[in-house]
Amino acid sequence: MNGPKTPWRLHAVLPRSAANGPGIRCVIWSQGCSLGCPGCFNPGTHPAGGDGAVRTVGEVAEEVLADAAHLEGVTLTGGEPLEQPAAIAAFCAELTARSDLSVIVLTGFTRREIEADPARAAAVADADLVVTGRYNARLRLARGLRGSSNKEYWARTGRYTAADLSGVPELEISVADDATLTFTGMHAPEGDI
Ligand code: SF4
Repeated sequence: MNGPKTPWRLHAVLPRSAANGPGIRCVIWSQGCSLGCPGCFNPGTHPAGGDGAVRTVGEVAEEVLADAAHLEGVTLTGGEPLEQPAAIAAFCAELTARSDLSVIVLTGFTRREIEADPARAAAVADADLVVTGRYNARLRLARGLRGSSNKEYWARTGRYTAADLSGVPELEISVADDATLTFTGMHAPEGDI
């Protein structure tokens, strides 16, 4: 199934963040990852049937587009977004057709694995930047948008350069209306998003 009615298993959505790419960005964590990188900082995102919500691509897109005036773009992370490639493809298509918001995808798959799989390749077709490769705890870096130094930037448009990414804050703490704290960014403590 494609298009706005495509279901999407989500772990969390942070409407605005300054620590997940250039500018203010909506961050969307997909639920489910089978790649099993040792030392993964966010194991709560691994079960495909975790405690996140299942929503439609159209619902999520409408929420993001309603706040587009305050956003530079969207960062899709996880979990593993490319284990739900139809949802990612449909969401990116919707966003790019209706706005100038940029799209960054953080994935554990390598560029070769993405290009070899038509569904994954289609999922990143509208992305401006894809950060690729398994997290390797021995090569921990936590700078820019790379958790470890083996991960690679794959610029698919000219929108962002490595210099744009070097200034991304390493940690961000958000306080919700109910006083809930959310830690995010490459230096977020274990277990937080
Ligand atoms: S791909 Fe990401 S979420 Fe999945 S195990 Fe590796 S670091 Fe964790």
